[in-house]
This record gives sequence, C-alpha cells and structure tokens, in this order.
Amino acid sequence: MKVLVAGGAGYIGSACAEYLIDNGHQVSVFDSLITGHRGAVDGRAEFIEGDLADRALVSDIMKKGSFEAIMHFAAFSLVGESMKDPGKYFRNNISNGINLLDAAVENKVRSIVFSSTAATFGEPEEMPITEESRQLPINPYGESKLCFEKILGWYNKIHGIQYAALRYFNASGASENFGEDHKPETHLIPLILQVAQGKREKIMIYGDDYDTPDGTCVRDYIHILDLAQAHMLALNAPRSGHYNLGTGSGLSVKEIIDTARKVTGHSIPAEIAPRRAGDPPRLIAGSDRIKKELGWKPRFESADAIIESVWKWMKKYPDGYKC
Ligand code: UDP
Repeated sequence: MKVLVAGGAGYIGSACAEYLIDNGHQVSVFDSLITGHRGAVDGRAEFIEGDLADRALVSDIMKKGSFEAIMHFAAFSLVGESMKDPGKYFRNNISNGINLLDAAVENKVRSIVFSSTAATFGEPEEMPITEESRQLPINPYGESKLCFEKILGWYNKIHGIQYAALRYFNASGASENFGEDHKPETHLIPLILQVAQGKREKIMIYGDDYDTPDGTCVRDYIHILDLAQAHMLALNAPRSGHYNLGTGSGLSVKEIIDTARKVTGHSIPAEIAPRRAGDPPRLIAGSDRIKKELGWKPRFESADAIIESVWKWMKKYPDGYKC
C-alpha cells in the first residue's frame, strides 16, 4: 500500500515507517521536525517537511500522493506540558489533525490508523483495562486524544473513512536503527539507561508508597516493534474500531531498574523521590480484542528483551540522532 506516515520522524512513527517498508509498503513521511528528527526518517521513505497546521500544504500533499492509507503519529505527548499549556495540545492534536482528516476525505483515502493512548482512560479501577473500560482522561493530553478518537468515529459515520484507534500503554524498546531521543527525556527506561551511560548520576524513583507489591508504580511496557506490527495489521482491519495495546502484564519501576542493572552490568544508583503528580499506581492493558480480531502477536514480552534492545540502540547512537 501507499501510506502517508504523519509524524514518521518521531519515536514510534519512525519504527513503524521502517516496519512498513520492510514489509513491502511504500511510505512517505510527513513531519514538522518540532519534536522529530530528520535522522529518524528511514532512508527508503520519501520525506516531506511540514506542519499539519498548514491546511493548504496538507491538502496538496494528499492530492499529489494518491495515498491509500494514513498513519497519524503527529502529536504532542507530554502530560505535564499539557497541564501547563492545554491550548497547545488541543490545537495541535485536535484542530491540526482535522486538517489531515479533511484532506484524506477529499482525496478518498481509504483508511487511517491513529496513535491513541492509555491516557484516554485516566485512572480506571478495573485492571486490565479493556476497550469497554470507561474513558475519563485526567489531563489535556489524554482529552485531546479521546476527542480525536470521537472525531474519527464521526468521520467514519459521515464520510465512510475506515479507522483504527490504537491505544498504546508504555511504548518502549528500539529497533536496530530507530529509538527514543526526546529532549528533554522524561521516560523511565531511557533515563535509567542514561545513568548506565554515565550521563546521569542516579535515577529518581517517583514514590515507593503506592498500593503495589513493591510500592512503586506498575506499567505495561510494550515494544515499538510490536506496536508497528499492530499498525500494519490495522491497515487491513475488516471494520473500524478501537484496540488497546499492551502485553497484559505489569512491571514496577523497581523491576525495570533491576532488569536494567542486569542487562548493562552497571549498578545504576536509585533514590526515592516524592510521587509525580497524576501518576496512577497501575496501568495494565487488556489486548485480547486485537489478538482475536486482527491476529496480533506481540514478540517482546519480557523486560529483558525490551531493555536489551534500547541498550543496543544507545550503544550505537550514544548521543541520539545527529540531526
Ligand atoms: N518514573 C520514575 N522516575 C523517572 C521517570 C519515571 O520513577 O525518572 C516512573 C513514573 O512515575 C511512572 C513510570 O516510571 O510510574 C513510567 O513513567 P514514564 O514517564 O516512562 O511513562 P508514563 O507511565 O508516565 O506514560
């Protein structure tokens, strides 16, 4: 298929673009490079630099490209920032996304796969979180993604465009060539490994008094190559819908640090710090629907395999992307 990957220079988009190309699809990457990196664009993809806010450009690209499908990763994704500047999140993640949708409808693109998030659920009490769980976001980031899920539903009803909204839990891991390079970095696994690289003195554990087995927060870490597999399967989904994406098992902050110590051979000093605002104690995905309906089979189900892949990528690119 001919696929437009919006946000294909970002962490998850770059690995998905690579995976699509490896599997015989033709990819054009569209990215503003505000948070993405030129060096994260697969050399086999066409690259178009631009912003989704530019409605005329988006429409023009879609007209010229004759795309059959779109993967939409282009969004801001920092929870803390969204609490300080909600307008930035609603404008980019909703309004600018609508430019993409309108251009897709005008040019008869058949389907769209959308990067959604566990943050659309907020703090649900039931675990695992299934597609039937109540969605009550607790920050503008999660709200912006939930709102776009609903907009997709309306575009499907009114214009007939097919969609799959994939709600990632904790995206992690790296492919051989593409990994995580956020500035500033806020995610647990890269921060821990920066300690092993000698770039940080220690890792701060945000709270050890949660109601979890070792007191630290539990998350469902899902490898980006497993996310990539899900995106490709979603291109041919028989109907529109929502899918939660995680491994179905949880790992605590302390378990992740211990695994990183084992993988790197570094002592990785850690210190207990106060809780981070807005962190739910446990988030674990129920992903049965995508397994049953689309035949998704995650391959990276251990913390070792995930952390090993990141460590390998960091050794190859110790300072991240050059551009
Ligand atoms: N965390 C931590 N220290 C850090 C960064 C994160 O203890 O330096 C914890 C955070 O409180 C959460 C888990 O690690 O419980 C995963 O956080 P991350 O920011 O990677 O992803 P999130 O779950 O917020 O999407």
